[in-house]
Parts: sequence; structure tokens; C-alpha cells
Amino acid sequence: MGEMSREELVVQRARKAFQTGKTKPLEFRKQQLQNLLRFVTERRKEIADSVKKDLGKSERGTELFETLGCEGEIRLALQHLSDWAAPRPVEKTLMTLPDQAYVQPQPLGLVLIIGAWNYPWAVTLQPLVGAIAAGNAAIIKPSEVSSHSAKAMEELLPQYLDTDLYPVVSGGVSETQELLRQRFDHVFYTGSSSVGRLVMEAAAAHLTPVTLELGGKSPCYVHPDCNIRVAARRITWGKFVNCGQTCIAPDYVLCEPSVESRLLEEVRECIKEFYTENPKGFEDYGRIINQRHFRRIVGLMEGSTVALGGDCDEADCYIGPTVLKDVSADSKVMKEEIFGPLLPIISVSGVDQAIQFISDREKPLVIYVFTEDKKIIQRMITETSSGALLANDCLVHFTVSTLPFGGVGHSGMGRYHGKHSFEQLSHMRSCLVRSLAMESVNLSRYPPQDRRRARRARMAMRAPLIDMSRRTFVWAVSATVIAVVLMVTLVVILLIAAGLNCTCWYWRGIYNYFW
Ligand code: NAD
Repeated sequence: MGEMSREELVVQRARKAFQTGKTKPLEFRKQQLQNLLRFVTERRKEIADSVKKDLGKSERGTELFETLGCEGEIRLALQHLSDWAAPRPVEKTLMTLPDQAYVQPQPLGLVLIIGAWNYPWAVTLQPLVGAIAAGNAAIIKPSEVSSHSAKAMEELLPQYLDTDLYPVVSGGVSETQELLRQRFDHVFYTGSSSVGRLVMEAAAAHLTPVTLELGGKSPCYVHPDCNIRVAARRITWGKFVNCGQTCIAPDYVLCEPSVESRLLEEVRECIKEFYTENPKGFEDYGRIINQRHFRRIVGLMEGSTVALGGDCDEADCYIGPTVLKDVSADSKVMKEEIFGPLLPIISVSGVDQAIQFISDREKPLVIYVFTEDKKIIQRMITETSSGALLANDCLVHFTVSTLPFGGVGHSGMGRYHGKHSFEQLSHMRSCLVRSLAMESVNLSRYPPQDRRRARRARMAMRAPLIDMSRRTFVWAVSATVIAVVLMVTLVVILLIAAGLNCTCWYWRGIYNYFW
């Protein structure tokens, strides 16, 4: 037998640890989540330092875009885990009326989390929260591209979490491929669509389900009726944060020619306000992750006119906030996800053409629409498809943990955040617990079949008859108690009234007798 690889060993150890049943009690999961929360709060500085080295991001920027979200997700899971993990009663048929029918969330087993480099902590720790909450073991594979964050994660996380159940495995493409050869119960991948395809292919060999959090070109339509100044502020923020290296950044703007020049002026003002006249020297404007991506992004400017910015410095991986105009649908910049600080503006004749433009392309992770007109928002919702739709703002849907976050089609599959992470990484097991009594009720389904039995069987299968969810049950009991109390009160009133009536007759009798 050949020697086992490091990845194989780690997977084996994690699976064994899962099989001990350690992760089943909710108390254990909560304790690990508490530890993770302690990690995020105690190691804020180390986390921020690593992201500073990888992406040139400021400490406050990292707090806002990486750790705050993780903290929120952990607190939410701690608060609601008992509810999420509880059996969920379902509606029953006549036949199963006396039985217990419910969905029991159950851990899947061993989850592989593969992260991307752009928000190296958020895209690994947030799925991890779901994996722990759902009672799984998880192997965490941070991106080698954000090497400082990966190193810090590998060094620090084991000081807080169970090391057998939640190991961090660092490494590049070959290590990830070796991991993907192993058998997992779920693979949670964040990254590009091209690698997503490879991940899905590798998972298919074991029939392992996947969550693919991919990217794509998220369009942003600006209608002439909206407040262009406010729209420009929100678009500028959404585009240039993290130097445009955000999966849900507005990739390009669609607007009528009359909007274009106003929008350009407002974006120019916003860039000055947010990042000063010299973004290169300003701490809240970061850097491109590496020279390979720098060259790729600079190459995307070819064939378009730079309307704003366009300054770059390869040695420093710096590309200033840039707006491109005279961009046609077949320009280079429209061929792939930009993932950098370039904002192309494309002219359309109006909302009809914008919808057509979007629908002719792959389904994006998010569609942004800026307008005062609710009908236009509704049209965007019904006539297009994307992972999410956000009207009159950028990025903030990511922070609403009750909204499932994920793509559709080319932008991915599966969803997470809040309860959705728990459900995505759980098996929703159907449980029906019957009794061996009342066998006569079952006669209709046994042979020999005749018309009468078939009629009875049809009746027995009728659904839904009773919704036995806890809330319905409480309502039913309360309504019955109130009805009984009202009935008793009514009877008492009637009795008193009848009594009074009798008393009246009695005295009237005495009166009549004497007078
Ligand atoms: P990346 O290069 O860091 O790759 C992501 C992960 O895949 C890494 O862990 C890497 O080790 C692994 N990987 C790379 N090549 C591989 C291969 N050939 N085989 C197996 N594993 C491999 O990140 P990236 O792909 O450049 O990430 C950027 C993309 O991620 C963008 O498209 C962005 O939109 C998307 N993204 C999506 C989300 C989301 O939540 N939907 C979040 C962040 C980034």
C-alpha cells in the first residue's frame, strides 16, 4: 500500500472524529461557535494585518467587510441553533393522522470549504459557521493567492477550534486537487466559474453535492428618473471597494446617453470625496492582489476610452478608480468578469434594451437597478434572472442574513447566510413514526384490491388534512379553551337568568296568594 498524502490523512482524521458523534450535541456546536467568535474578536489585529499585506486594505475596512459579518453570523447561529436543529412537524394525510411526521435536520458529515482570495476570511469563515452549526466536520482550504491570510488562518484557527474536526489545509492547485480526490459529504466552493466546473467534476466522482459560490458580470441599470447623485455614490462605493475585487461589485453600468454624462460627473466627485485626489496614497483604497491580475485588468481597458482615472503602477499593483466610456457590447472588457476597479458605461435606449442586454447573457450573481419607478423594479424582477436583485443600492443585500446568498446558472448553485447556511449543510431527513396499532385502518391498501378498497385508499391519502405545526397546535388549543370558557359563561348566564325568572314567579305567586 502506497504512503498516504497529507490531505488524505487530514480527511481520514476528520472523518473519524465526526464518526465519534462528538458534533451531534448542540452544546458542543455552540461551544465551538463561541470559540470561533472569540477567535474573530481576539485576533482582529492579526486578521487585519494579514489582509493589509494581501490586499492593502485598512484595518477598519477589514473589520467592516470581513470580520463584522462573521461575528453577526456566529451570534445569529448561537441565538437560533436550537430552533433550527429542532424537528419540523409537517402536514399529514388522513392515513397518517395519528402518527408523527416531521423533518429532522441532520449533519451531512465531512464538508470541504474552498475559499477565494478577495475576502479571504469572510468566504471561508462564514461557510464554516454553517458547517459547525449543522454539526459537520469541515476541512478549510483558504486560497493560496492571499498567502498572508492563509498562513495566519493555518496558525491561529487551530488554537480555538477542535483540530481534528476543523483542520486548516493550506496549499495551491495541486493540494486542492488532492483534497478533491478524497470523499466528502459536501463541497462548498467559492471562486471562479472555470474552477467551479473542475470542483463539480471531482465531486461527481463520489456523488458529492456541491455549493458553488461563483462570480460573473453583475449589471447595473440606471434609469433617468432616479436621483443620479445618490445612485453615483452607491455605485462608486460598490464598485471601488476592495479595488473592484468583489464578487457582487456592479461589473458595468447600463444607461441612456442622457444619463451617462451626469453620472460621470457625479462619479468623479464621489471618487474625490471617498478616496481623495490621490487614491494611491489613501489608506482606504487597496491594491490588486498580484501582478498577474494587474496585467489582466489593465489589458481589459484596450479598445475603450478612459473617461476617468486609468492611472496604474505595476510594481505597486495599483490601478486607480477608472471609468470607461464608448464601450461596445463586444469590447474586451465585456468578455469576462472585470474583478478590478474599471467601470464601463454602456449606452442603451431604455429599460427594454437593458432587460434584453441582460437576458442575452449568462445569469449574473446580482442585478442592480436604480429608479424611482416601482413598475421598472418589478419588470426587472419578473423579466430577468440572477442570484439576487437589489434596487437602489449596491452590495447591502449581502448583509441581510435572512436573504439567501448565492448564484443561479453560471453564477453558481446553492445558497448560504444565516439559517440558509445551516440548511444548505444539513440533510433534511424525512421522519414518519407510525404505530403498530389500528391495523384495520390499513386494509384498504393490501391485496386483494377491489373498487371499494381503492376508494378508501384514495380517501386515506387525501392531503393536507391537518397542519400540526407547533404554532397551529398552540392556536388550536387556545381557541378551544376560549370557546369552552365562553360556552361555560353562556350556560352560567342562562342558568342565572332562568333562576331569576323562577324567583320572580315565586314572589309573584306569594303576592297573588295574599292579595
Ligand atoms: P482563487 O484563485 O483563489 O481560487 C479559488 C480556490 O480554488 C482557491 O482555494 C484555489 O486554491 C482553488 N483552485 C484554483 N485553481 C484550482 C484548480 N485548477 N483546481 C482545484 N482548485 C483550484 O480565486 P479566484 O477563482 O480567482 O476567485 C475569484 C472569483 O471568485 C471571482 O469570479 C469572484 O466573483 C468569485 N467569488 C465569488 C464569491 C461568491 O460568494 N459568490 C465570493 C468571492 C469570490
